[in-house]
Amino acid sequence: MTKHIAVIGGGTMGQGIAYTAALAGFSVTLQDIAEDAIERAREFIESLLDRNVEKGFVQPQQREEARNNLSYTTDLQKAVETTDFVIEAALEIMELKINIFQQLDEWAPKHAILATNTSTMSPTEIAASTKRPEQCAAMHFFNPVPRMKLIEIIRGLDTSDETVEIVKQVAEKMGKETVEVNEFPGFVTSRMNCLIGNEAMNMLMEGVASAEDIDKALKLGLNHPMGPLELADLVGLDSRLRNMEYLYHQLGEKYRTSPVLVKYVKAGRLGRKSGRGFYDYTTEQKGK
Ligand code: NAD
Repeated sequence: MTKHIAVIGGGTMGQGIAYTAALAGFSVTLQDIAEDAIERAREFIESLLDRNVEKGFVQPQQREEARNNLSYTTDLQKAVETTDFVIEAALEIMELKINIFQQLDEWAPKHAILATNTSTMSPTEIAASTKRPEQCAAMHFFNPVPRMKLIEIIRGLDTSDETVEIVKQVAEKMGKETVEVNEFPGFVTSRMNCLIGNEAMNMLMEGVASAEDIDKALKLGLNHPMGPLELADLVGLDSRLRNMEYLYHQLGEKYRTSPVLVKYVKAGRLGRKSGRGFYDYTTEQKGK
């Protein structure tokens, strides 16, 4: 039975995963290498709990339980040494994930499942760095985690049926629906979403329409709940760039990265998290 979850990486995704898991009744340790990332994650989770209590989505009693379920650390060994289940949500860099998984394999109990929240990368390659590839899988959450219903479960070459079953049980306890996907770069969702986003960025570069009108056209004309450019801002343009570069490397020309994305990342416009991306979030009214 999964009781404790260790979440590795306290950025955009790690915060949301830790929040959702703690509210679902798991005991959760959130780990990040950076002290300031841990502080930001703690503040984010506390204020989200408060906001959701004010709105009536979370009962005060549930908030107390979630707070008691959560702990934070920068010490990876401490975070995982008694855990049942690890969800790695550090940066989308293969060498980094391999490195983390080697350490997880050394320090996590033998029975623990090791899941990665990679958006695009091979769980087989990540799992191959461990001595328990049958207990590894990708568990792909969506942003913002508390609100998004889906988790994509990606089987690596050696992932066992039992592991997939445990991942499903954890996902269901977190209130999520799952789809099971065989490994392929970008899975189902990132493979599709990166293409749509990249085309929107190329349209912006070509002057086909403004960012607002591209997003409005996709929302009102094609019934997308969010426009591709505002979605990229939410994801983080640095994260999106890493996804595109990986998919280009794996799948070729179709995923050639829009120069606009590279330019924005070089300028430090990373989307919502830096205050500016395709839109400006520093003023109250979202503008260009
Ligand atoms: P982020 O940049 O917001 O956060 C990454 C965090 O990882 C940072 O706080 C960083 O300090 C930490 N980190 C870096 N190296 C670490 C290490 N060795 N050990 C522990 N922590 C470390 O990134 P994110 O957007 O949360 O993405 C995390 C993962 O989730 C990536 O693999 C990404 O592709 C995937 N993902 C992202 C989204 C999204 O919308 N942003 C959606 C689905 C999946």
